[in-house]
Amino acid sequence: MSARVLDGNKIRDEIKADLASQIAGLKRAGITPGLAAVLTGDNPASQIYVRSKVKTCAQLGLHSEKIELPAVTTTGQLLDLIQNLNQRDEIDGILIQLPLPQQIDSQRVLMAVDPAKDVDGFHPINIGNLVSGRPGLVPCTPAGIIEILERSDILMNGARAVVIGRSDIVGKPVAMLLLHKHATVTICHSRTRNLASVAREGDILVAAIGKAGLVTRDFIKPGATVIDVGMNRLATPEEVRHVFDDPTIPLRELESKGYVLVGDVKPEDVKESAGAYTPVPGGVGPLTIAMLMVNTVRAARARRGMLLTAASQL
Ligand code: NAP
Repeated sequence: MSARVLDGNKIRDEIKADLASQIAGLKRAGITPGLAAVLTGDNPASQIYVRSKVKTCAQLGLHSEKIELPAVTTTGQLLDLIQNLNQRDEIDGILIQLPLPQQIDSQRVLMAVDPAKDVDGFHPINIGNLVSGRPGLVPCTPAGIIEILERSDILMNGARAVVIGRSDIVGKPVAMLLLHKHATVTICHSRTRNLASVAREGDILVAAIGKAGLVTRDFIKPGATVIDVGMNRLATPEEVRHVFDDPTIPLRELESKGYVLVGDVKPEDVKESAGAYTPVPGGVGPLTIAMLMVNTVRAARARRGMLLTAASQL
């Protein structure tokens, strides 16, 4: 039997529809949530991400400002800008697009963002709130993963969850959120022994590694839910052949587009072995920007003393 596809685009649209009605309510009360997106330097991927974040704000009727700084910006200049954004009342969310140019002290910069406006959830105050289960702003991709699982009726309570990857942005926060949903969580990384057999214990398997097709059939418990966070570009026929048993269609895609986007999970294997899975593209990816919008609205509400719950994102 073929596995159920967890359609990230559809779930993103549901979230946006829920959000649109919340935003309409806030606007009736004279509140327009506002996001400032700070883009430093000329990284092409960052430019695309910031553009689509600002575009989504416009679609939903949120106020947004795109602030572009040159690649030679200093830590001090960025800190001054953040200070100013922290003080401006019409800005509810501040997003510092990463990676920052090398000369900038990223940790100092992220620490300078007012935790109440930290819509990426990277400030230590918000990380502390996440760990202790207090209300706060949660990193967007992990929050999106939980939305996918909840809205697809995947049981987390009591389930065995295995997360491969321990980054501050994905692995650790998603593990913490799964724990709060009462899953029994194992976190794996590059030093984990017998990775495939540990992964195979998971009723829920989250792959956040950044290695194309590393998760194969032998990692997947039959019937498990597999969440593929990885976004990897295959750029040569050899790379495509390494990931796909039948590379005919991806090789055509490579020829027409110049690359093939794949996750950390081998696509042909997950279809056969899993019970449900997120595809790449069209799985976790679409949720990340949607959750940034959710966080901006949550920040706008919380800054005005409205209810901010720990359990529910919306
Ligand atoms: P990261 O900071 O590079 O972390 C990767 C993690 O994977 C590390 O913990 C590393 O272990 C582990 N790892 C590396 N090789 C491994 C191996 N052979 N076996 C087991 N574990 C291994 O990456 P990230 O920021 O978490 O991102 C992970 C992936 O998700 C990337 O492809 C990224 O592009 C994608 N991503 C997607 C979205 C989205 O919106 N869909 C958002 C964020 C990230 P160590 O700690 O031991 O080094």
